[in-house]
Amino acid sequence: MIVAGDYVVMMDESQQVVKDGAVAIDGGRIVAVGPSAELASKYRARRTLDGTGKVVLPGLINGHTHAAMTLLRGIADDIELIEWLQKYIFPTEVRFVDADFVRIGTELACAEMIRGGTTTFVDMYYFPDSVAEAVESCGLRVLVAASVIDQKSPDAANGTESLAKAADFVRRWKGRNNRIIPIIGAHAIYTIPPDLMRRIAAAAQELDVPISIHVSESRWEMETTQKNYQTTPIHALDQLGVFGGHTIAAHVVWPQDDDIPVLVQRQVGVIHNPSSNMKISSGISPVTKMLAAGVHVGLGTDGPATNNDLDMWEEMRLAAFLQKVSTMDPKVIPARTALNMATHGGAEAIGLGEELGTLAPGRRADLIQVSLADEHFVPMYDVISHLVYVAHAEDVTSVVVDGKILMRDGKVLTVDEAQVRREATAIATRIQAALAATP
Ligand SMILES: [Zn+2]
Repeated sequence: MIVAGDYVVMMDESQQVVKDGAVAIDGGRIVAVGPSAELASKYRARRTLDGTGKVVLPGLINGHTHAAMTLLRGIADDIELIEWLQKYIFPTEVRFVDADFVRIGTELACAEMIRGGTTTFVDMYYFPDSVAEAVESCGLRVLVAASVIDQKSPDAANGTESLAKAADFVRRWKGRNNRIIPIIGAHAIYTIPPDLMRRIAAAAQELDVPISIHVSESRWEMETTQKNYQTTPIHALDQLGVFGGHTIAAHVVWPQDDDIPVLVQRQVGVIHNPSSNMKISSGISPVTKMLAAGVHVGLGTDGPATNNDLDMWEEMRLAAFLQKVSTMDPKVIPARTALNMATHGGAEAIGLGEELGTLAPGRRADLIQVSLADEHFVPMYDVISHLVYVAHAEDVTSVVVDGKILMRDGKVLTVDEAQVRREATAIATRIQAALAATP
């Protein structure tokens, strides 16, 4: 297959943008990137995605979300994280979240992510088999973190049971489909006691999978950890062995100066979630400082109940703007850096820098076409500037993952959108009625 574009943004070291370029794909991997004419003379494609008026770039990587929470978006807004979790989200989840909820919520999220040009996401939720099955059929790439949390959750009675189930899930799915990567999810240091956290770290290392965890998200978490461990969450997690394998640390809003060297040394991937951090007033992550120190920083939307959508274009823009205004320096996080955090930098943060995030021979064929038809792209001085400061999810027209077309000319081919809308609305109606009936 050939995917062409007026511009091909490779996001590799050369920082090249090929004008009138194309990407040749075979067997799920990229075989060549270069000028269209050159590729047309070298390869005979069975299929071609025309590139007139389009930009081709690596698919976006959403490094932290809870996809099935699409079904809870808008259920409780405008409150603090801890109150939001303890009063609304945890009880609602225990009451309503089951395998069907997760399947439908994930399918809805997949449709939204495909439409917005996300090709890989890191999920953390319950009933991970339902997540894996939904993503297997929608065609996206995913790291599915089976959540471990030391309380009654929708799919386990306590922490020990949730870890046993998570490990079983990893064993069931590891190596089964290159697009579905099972990992372990540890909710956070304040919902998991030290002994269980040590066992999670040991299990992840034994199974040879990454851990995804919320880290240093709120000031409340910093204070609680100080009380319980007399140190910061990052130092405490390091002492508990959590950073022994690859760790995907979501948020990291409040790293202290002596935390950052730990992140660098342990090669912890940080996922910055600007919308969620702003919406629940978690704070502003010192992304500029972490990048300067050599931390791999990617971007995420967080769950659709604290965002409330899965739009990575908005995260790119907000990541850049937040750093500029908080440092009072417009030079920090230039457009290319923001785009890198959503592509190659994100791939490095989730431990797949050799496979994803760049258009280069040998990499997985995960790429998107963005249409330049909208007036907001006129005139065109700098394509990277437009991708970061102008483009919206709606501008994405085609999505290819692992060499397969998931959306073509704005039509999603792998999700029955009408049906998933109906099913999602039916569940929400049921939840709303049950909540209204509860005094
Ligand atoms: Zn989260």
